[in-house]
Amino acid sequence: MIPVLVLNAGSSSLKYQLLDMDDRSVCASGLVEKIGEDEGSLTHRTPGAAPLTEPGAIPDHGTALDRVLAAFERTGGLTEAPFAVGHRVVHGGDRFSGPTVVDDDVLEQIRELVPLAPLHNPANIAGIEVARARYPGTPQVAVFDTAFHTAMPPHAWRYALPRNLADRLRIRRYGFHGTSHGYVARTAAAHLRRPLDQLALVTLHLGNGCSAAAVAGGRSIDTSMGLTPLGGLVMGTRSGDLDPGIVAHLHREGGLDLDTIDTLLNKESGMRGLAGSNDLREVHAKADAGDPDAAEALAVFCYRIRCTVGAYAAALGRLDAVVFTAGIGENDADVRARVCAGLGVLGVEVDDVRNTARSREPRTISADGSRVVVLVVPTDEELEIAEQTLAVVGGAAR
Ligand code: ADP
Repeated sequence: MIPVLVLNAGSSSLKYQLLDMDDRSVCASGLVEKIGEDEGSLTHRTPGAAPLTEPGAIPDHGTALDRVLAAFERTGGLTEAPFAVGHRVVHGGDRFSGPTVVDDDVLEQIRELVPLAPLHNPANIAGIEVARARYPGTPQVAVFDTAFHTAMPPHAWRYALPRNLADRLRIRRYGFHGTSHGYVARTAAAHLRRPLDQLALVTLHLGNGCSAAAVAGGRSIDTSMGLTPLGGLVMGTRSGDLDPGIVAHLHREGGLDLDTIDTLLNKESGMRGLAGSNDLREVHAKADAGDPDAAEALAVFCYRIRCTVGAYAAALGRLDAVVFTAGIGENDADVRARVCAGLGVLGVEVDDVRNTARSREPRTISADGSRVVVLVVPTDEELEIAEQTLAVVGGAAR
């Protein structure tokens, strides 16, 4: 057994998965929620057993990890230190282009990136600190959401702002969801039985957060999220791209201060702002019941994605496949059909029967004659973090 523990720490949550990298199986997974609130909870899942749910206040991430380890002790699965711990870290700036073994210096560099991800990096740091304290002899590896996009050319990442100011404040496009885009690009190539380095792909990660990437030869050459995960496509609660003038307009005419605008754009916009729900299943139900706002919201959502695919076909100069992933991308046949409906000009033709068939496997949903292949590839960020963790810790140590 090669046990690798994957930790994904949010500001008030801790998601975890224990994988046996001998056969890539999941030994256990779970979620600690509402860390720091009056009433928290832990849900621990072991394959083939009923989930273990434990309510109770969880004051901090250290306590959260203790609860997780206690759950492992009760249910088995992790009796000694894992072989390695892989940590999802949201922002690696332009410094971290791959998975990195964490030492004091790396931790300090992740800390220096907090101004770029004030909600995410502090939680990720807390996760690393508690795991280091718990397992001092175990390698800790940081896997960055931004890493996959660090190869983007300057014409894709540079914003047209005064150069000195932008450079001083580190304002540029970084992109996120990189672990997912990288994983589904590789899995798509394997499914197509074609070398990744010869493929031009557009990958669409459509979950609560949504982003697109243009992937040439296995490298991201452009992506829709920017300095922060607020930019690009319309999302569950985030606006995605706006005319930047809207921010000043909201302030001057709407009387909103900056923090209020930030919350508005991150938490109250997107599908929630347009249709009253950030859950696409609910938006569909409303639209089916005749709600015109919900119908329009779906049209806005799909149109933005379709235009982005078109733009990225131009960025790539060629398009071999479009890959749908994450909660919406994997499950929502209607969104996939609408996105692709306008892409006939690029040679995209979806087969309705394939598109509506349900499966958990990577699959082709385009018609046999479609010039561009359309795929659905379930993402697995935890497995990818574990793979990258193992790759960087190295077979030598095994
Ligand atoms: P996160 O970004 O939080 O990981 P997910 O990838 O789970 O989010 O995606 C959440 C989104 O996926 C929600 O909008 C949800 O409505 C949508 N979704 C999940 N399952 C389905 C389904 N069976 N059909 C349509 N949409 C779905």
